[in-house]
Amino acid sequence: MSTTFGQSTVLGYPRIGGNRELKKAVEAYWAGRIDAAELESASVALRAGVWRTLRDARLDAIPSNTFSYYDHVLDTAVAVGAVPRRFARLGLSGLDTYFAMARGVDAEPALELTKWFDTNYHYLVPEIGSDTVFAANPDKALREYGESRALGIESRPVLVGPATFLLLAKTSTPGAKAFDRMAELVDVYADILRALAAAGVTWVQLDEPAYVADRTTAEIEALRDAYTRLCSVRQRPRIFVATYFGELGDALPALLDTPVEALGLDLVAGPGNLRRLAGAGPLHGKTIVAGLVDGRNVWRTDLRAAIATGAVVTGLADHVAVSTSCSLLHTPVDLCAETALDPQLRLRMAFARQKVDEVVLLGRALRDGTTALPEPLPPAPAAWRDDTVRGRLAALRPGDRQRGDHRQRAAAQQARLHLPPLPTTTIGSFPQTAELRAARAAHRSGRLDDSGYVQRMRAEVEHVIRLQERLGLDVLVHGEPERSDMVQYFGEQLTGFATTEHGWVQSYGSRCVRPPIIYGDVARRAPMTVAWSSYAQSLTDRPVKGMLTGPVTILAWSFVRDDQPIDVTADQIALALRDECRDLQAAGIRVIQVDEPALRETLPLRAAEQAAYLDWAVDAFRLATSGVADDTQIHTHLCYSEFGEIIAAIDTLDADVTSIEASRSKMEVLGDLAAAGYHRGVGPGVWDIHSPRVPPRDEVVEALRRALAVVPAERLWVNPDCGLKTRSYPEVEASLAHLVAAAVELRGR
Ligand code: GLN
Ligand code: ZN
Repeated sequence: MSTTFGQSTVLGYPRIGGNRELKKAVEAYWAGRIDAAELESASVALRAGVWRTLRDARLDAIPSNTFSYYDHVLDTAVAVGAVPRRFARLGLSGLDTYFAMARGVDAEPALELTKWFDTNYHYLVPEIGSDTVFAANPDKALREYGESRALGIESRPVLVGPATFLLLAKTSTPGAKAFDRMAELVDVYADILRALAAAGVTWVQLDEPAYVADRTTAEIEALRDAYTRLCSVRQRPRIFVATYFGELGDALPALLDTPVEALGLDLVAGPGNLRRLAGAGPLHGKTIVAGLVDGRNVWRTDLRAAIATGAVVTGLADHVAVSTSCSLLHTPVDLCAETALDPQLRLRMAFARQKVDEVVLLGRALRDGTTALPEPLPPAPAAWRDDTVRGRLAALRPGDRQRGDHRQRAAAQQARLHLPPLPTTTIGSFPQTAELRAARAAHRSGRLDDSGYVQRMRAEVEHVIRLQERLGLDVLVHGEPERSDMVQYFGEQLTGFATTEHGWVQSYGSRCVRPPIIYGDVARRAPMTVAWSSYAQSLTDRPVKGMLTGPVTILAWSFVRDDQPIDVTADQIALALRDECRDLQAAGIRVIQVDEPALRETLPLRAAEQAAYLDWAVDAFRLATSGVADDTQIHTHLCYSEFGEIIAAIDTLDADVTSIEASRSKMEVLGDLAAAGYHRGVGPGVWDIHSPRVPPRDEVVEALRRALAVVPAERLWVNPDCGLKTRSYPEVEASLAHLVAAAVELRGR
């Protein structure tokens, strides 16, 4: 049995399958089309496929337990017995209890879903209550280990580590923190380690990414204690603590102080880890797992630079292994499936499968000292460069990001819009019915020609406008029927963007997204939304709100070029949006919303880096929105709750009106905004559109009353939490009717 770590590894691999087999299998199970045994056999095949792929690529340290029916944090919750009583008491099978936690059942809402660090993956938030009794349940890890072994592949089970698990969890016990349960939880991890060792496991991977964010001294000491204790377990596998998404800071020496046998560092997102490692003194007996291949992007690795970095690590540690910077969960599966990509672009790209080859090659290069490396890439084609955009960027002045005084703007806008107090509006999308999706698919495949498609979409726009008029909304939207995705829609129309056919990445559960790829200079070929918005406006006297996706959100939900600073790319996108805003204004659109739902999620994990991010992000938004006249009203929309660190930045966006998710947090965000000196229009969501529940009118009145205690009626807007695309028409009609009735009632006071 090998006790050395190996030369090359990945921290995880996509589990969805090359053709999204996982999605198809779990959705078939949920719909009752296949039973648990069929689901299990589909998943056995998927896992075997991944292990064989990794072995055949000659990766010599292969992870297991990275498969999941839904989410690996939920898997870890199950492995430590953290199944809340509200689910356990449903009396379902293990599998159905698991899916109940993930998706909810009639009687019980699901666990909360939230973003995994600064990625677009979402995990289920473990609930630790006073009734939670941790207990080891290593079945899944053992089963997967056994399966790989049966294939002749010795694998390394992966679990979320105890400290990160508790830092991600929430507790319902007042005054308590989940983290206070560390000592108990470590005992349970010790049991899991013993069970794994008994089954023959030689290495286990415990992921502690929470320590690349700012952590207190107490949290770092708890980490040190936890691993010191785990290492004292008599019969245990060797422990590899994996960290990723940034720099470990003071947690790095703390982990090195413990007897853990291997430590993984992200040297892509956390270059400072190298310096910290060098300062840590001799690393006797430790393996450093160097994350040299970016697990968050789709570009080929600069192998020469990676070898140079790897060589520095080799000089510091007894043993070095090469790995990806994080799990490959965040990259699409296999570039080979992309046959339609521009060859010049394809040449520069690597998906998960290609990144494995890079890791293997780097591992050999570091071991042998020399290896034949592929030719360096040729320079990017001249056509990817757009000197017009570059010239425009170079000529920008601070005034280009500055509108007139916002109070004067508000007056000019009101003189033009004549809105009542508490104006009502929605966030943009209306239900995406199966029929609409079918029409878009038919158009894409050529079964529906352009004019037929436009006709179909215009009919939908007209339907949505008439519905809003009938309901009595004040500022209307066209409903976004032509957009399957708010980023892809723009990516398809801008230069410098590519879209893939199969480049799916798991977002949560069975949901996958296909992020566009930004590879070159970005410019607008032609107006992107003007025809739809002006058609909608032609149908009604009420103002129709133009609808754009902001530069930060476009970046956040795309794979972004890494050959120039991100603020340059952001400004290029912003210029295209600025032109679009002007064209919308010229077409008679008086209100334009520029959505930035991702503003919060891309915030750097460490406070020290947040100001610089907010600077360029806010600058790009302002560049996009400052080209219009004072009497054109700019809205923005923010969602995915918790605005804490960006509350002050919301004011600096300088939008005239901000609609913001608030219904779950019961309007708390309004107090925070007021405290931060925000004196502009604000529309706190008064209907939680994530739930099928129709809010009763009195509940909306109540929410608005709470809002009115903080924000005067002249500045308060009435709107849902987010777009309505996932809701059904009956829910939308009933809810919006209540919303309008509530606004009208309060106006009368
Ligand atoms: N305008 C978009 C919509 O209504 C906003 C979506 C979002 O915030 N995620 O769908
Ligand atoms: Zn939203």
